[in-house]
Amino acid sequence: MREMKHFFIGGKWRAPSSSDVIQVIDAANESLLGTVPVARKADVDAAVMAARQALGKWAETPVAVRAELLEKMADNLKARAPEIAEVISREVGMSLKMSQRIQAALPVIVAASYAKLLQEFPFKIQIANSRVFRVPKGVVAAITPWNYPLHQLVGKVAPALAAGCTVVAKPASEAPLSAFLLAQAIEAAGFPPGVFNLVSGDGPTTASLLVQHADVDMISFTGSTATGAKIAAAAAASAKRVTLELGGKSPSLVLEDADFPKALRSTVNNCFLNSGQTCNALTRLLVPRDRLAEVEEQVAPLVAGMKLGDPADPDTKLGPLVSARQRERVRQYIREAIQAGTRLLVGGADPPEGLRRGFYVKPTVFTDVDPGAVIAQEEVFGPVLCIIGYREVEEAVAIANGTRYGLAAAVWSADAGRALQVARRIRAGQIDINGAPFNAVAPFGGFKQSGYGREFGVFGLEEYLEPMSIQLSA
Ligand code: NDP
Repeated sequence: MREMKHFFIGGKWRAPSSSDVIQVIDAANESLLGTVPVARKADVDAAVMAARQALGKWAETPVAVRAELLEKMADNLKARAPEIAEVISREVGMSLKMSQRIQAALPVIVAASYAKLLQEFPFKIQIANSRVFRVPKGVVAAITPWNYPLHQLVGKVAPALAAGCTVVAKPASEAPLSAFLLAQAIEAAGFPPGVFNLVSGDGPTTASLLVQHADVDMISFTGSTATGAKIAAAAAASAKRVTLELGGKSPSLVLEDADFPKALRSTVNNCFLNSGQTCNALTRLLVPRDRLAEVEEQVAPLVAGMKLGDPADPDTKLGPLVSARQRERVRQYIREAIQAGTRLLVGGADPPEGLRRGFYVKPTVFTDVDPGAVIAQEEVFGPVLCIIGYREVEEAVAIANGTRYGLAAAVWSADAGRALQVARRIRAGQIDINGAPFNAVAPFGGFKQSGYGREFGVFGLEEYLEPMSIQLSA
């Protein structure tokens, strides 16, 4: 059991002002995995004050020193990768194998990418008679969700620290433990006190104190569209800078000339990664209507054959969902879709056989789905794929763009030039052609209600900087 008894504030592990704790549950067996303290006003005030006090010096710290510290942080995370992978696998339910590859490995890549980027980033440019400085936005509150807990946190902390901002982080209550490992990695790297601070606690109690705090300059949030909208509204009162990385209902658009077996296999793997608890999951498979039967024949065995079970078992493809609440939410979506007459191809809302403990949901596919149906419009955040038929490319693009989201998409065609043309008509922040790999330094973020602002790479860094132009006389 991991009992986290302190917050990390001002470079020290500090006892909480109240005795309230949040219980962290092992998603696979429902046992108690650990506890974290709940931060109340006194704790949040102390964390924000520490960040505020550290800001001036940190903003002036030479870029080479900031880069060196970020490099050390990346090394420290790498050294603890097995522990990070295990903790997150148990909190979130992702298979240990994938947790090693993604949950533990990506934060190292992202942290190191900022150490490198700092070496070439122009913090000062000349525009006619103006010298334009890019200065840090200030104290950043980083509020993150549970699905990729460390990746999402490092995706905010690394660029914020690289920019010269200071941070107060508040991780998700379901998966907060890796944030404490990050704080330890930052402490061991030797960052100055107060540059990074960590508090834990629930959204309404702890995170909303950060959102309203007069000494917080910027909120960087990842999570649901509903919570993101609340945060943006609250932050508007004091014109706080806000970036929002929210939900998605991303399409995988398979054109008629595509390599179907490859496109379908890849879409299925993408959709069911982390049991569908991925913001950019390709949850809508768009295929030519006259090939629906062929697609169903190929997709059904791929999904039905996915091994559901203990995340620690190397043969497991799908682990449980993160919580009982999430399991219920997803099952309810499946039940309602069935009641609405949507054709079920694989899976369903019943509990999977042989798994009496753990928050498991059967991998589920609906087919011939009406693009306007609830199951094809809302972010289910579970192992659910919708197959949708289209008649012409024009209609396919309209369906792809026909939700309130615009986070990601995929396009498949034998002709990469044609795929690119179609991709450019989709309103989404990240579009992959023919299964192209994830790029950890490409801008990541949404159109429409998937949010605003971008994370990772140079675009991610710029979110934490404010231009200041100083006009020089001749
Ligand atoms: P939330 O968006 O509510 O949670 C994300 C983060 O915001 C957590 O740290 C949470 O804290 C915090 N938070 C919650 N309420 C507030 C508030 N009023 N003010 C400030 N911060 C707050 O997501 P949930 O965990 O509730 O998940 C619900 C649904 O959201 C999922 O089913 C999924 O559809 C979607 N989601 C989408 C994600 C994405 O990446 N697109 C990621 C996570 C969820 P705490 O954990 O303590 O509640």
